[in-house]
Amino acid sequence: MTDQEKTGLGNYFVANYPPFSAWNIDGLRDAHAALAAPPRPDTPLGLYLHIPFCRKRCKFCYFRVYTDKNARDVEVYLDALLREIELYRATPFARDRKLHYVYFGGGTPSYLSATQLGGLFERVQALFPWHDAAEVTFECEPGTLQQHKLEALKAAGVTRLSLGVENFSDKILESNGRAHLSPEIFRAYQWARDLHFTQINIDLIAGMVGETWDNWRDCVQKTIDLAPESVTVYQMELPYNTVFSKELHNVTASPLPLAAGSAVRADHVVDPDTVADWPTKRAWVDYAFAEMAKAGYTVSSAYTMVRDPEKTKFVYRDALWHGADMMGTGVASFGHVSGVHVQNLDRWEDYTERLQKGELPLGRALKVAPNQLLRRELMLQLKTGRLQPDYFRAKFGTDILGTFAEDFGQLQNDGFLTLANGNIELTRAGLLQVDRILPAFFEAEHRGARYT
Ligand code: SF4
Repeated sequence: MTDQEKTGLGNYFVANYPPFSAWNIDGLRDAHAALAAPPRPDTPLGLYLHIPFCRKRCKFCYFRVYTDKNARDVEVYLDALLREIELYRATPFARDRKLHYVYFGGGTPSYLSATQLGGLFERVQALFPWHDAAEVTFECEPGTLQQHKLEALKAAGVTRLSLGVENFSDKILESNGRAHLSPEIFRAYQWARDLHFTQINIDLIAGMVGETWDNWRDCVQKTIDLAPESVTVYQMELPYNTVFSKELHNVTASPLPLAAGSAVRADHVVDPDTVADWPTKRAWVDYAFAEMAKAGYTVSSAYTMVRDPEKTKFVYRDALWHGADMMGTGVASFGHVSGVHVQNLDRWEDYTERLQKGELPLGRALKVAPNQLLRRELMLQLKTGRLQPDYFRAKFGTDILGTFAEDFGQLQNDGFLTLANGNIELTRAGLLQVDRILPAFFEAEHRGARYT
């Protein structure tokens, strides 16, 4: 197997462009200028709220999350978050705007108690009412849900409930450090169904440590049996700064033996040979998509299938992939302000202190050139499996078929893309490894950048 096919350390997922490593403190001037000016006409605005608490840290997780905060800390954090939203509300950028979408992400938003959530919802809505928003998404960890908490979410207008199931095997959930077990998945799902949320999404991860074909088939079948409106399948990465990556880094030349049938050595360190390679993970995603297609699901992006494409939209994703603005609130959150990428300070103390001083807690930013905005949208929209040249002609005045003819030609030769009658479509092979082929559209100076 080539090194490229092994699951090495690092991120492969292309979430934005230019890469985060190009964002810096100098860009903050542009961010503040953008906030001090009226918005671009006809640009939707969203609000992302980062809730950085989890019951325990999953071994593959690289997000800014805390597992050791008490109720008083949570209160301090929520006050800071509210202050941040207030500061946004006062800017010319957001002053007169309505929200198109809201996204509670994490971390684990459902870690908050029903009382904490009730207070948060009320205070946010007093600043930015969301009853007219096209979508309100709330991420949940199944083990943190109770019926009354779900009732509070429903009453607050949450339309899209995203359940971080990841896997149905308790053994795999446990060895990857997840906090929940499978009975909690079924219990939470049934409560959510009974409350008639507009959309329930189930997240799965292909290639968790210890995954096997038999277990993966079982996970896909159990997902189909639950019949959620949307299913999202990610391929497991081994980013830097995770429990697993540190273990892999420290694996010694004389490893302790594996217990029979185990992915974890006797000293509880993950064995690198049990981390599935990329072709296997792609085969698992391919299998999941094929089985879901047989069950009536339709491909909505490289990661997501939906039961009814007419009814089931993902507004947050589509807005971002079409250049919407977003107030990214919370520690380390990412946002976009009138053509400027922004990220908040990524340490708790810095974030809360800045807000106590009454200042937006921006940490780094990047003003994105028009040509880069185009590349960004092209790459992100390619994740849906197709591009519409007319859209780019109308928005950017660019004929992408001509400008990127060489790149499209190369991808076509590689079997990843088809070009017919002015339509650009990814093949199945292209869609399965879209994040690997997107760097073809990076400008030369951003190729090979560490993606952090
Ligand atoms: S629940 Fe999500 S955010 Fe929390 S530790 Fe696990 S992967 Fe990270």
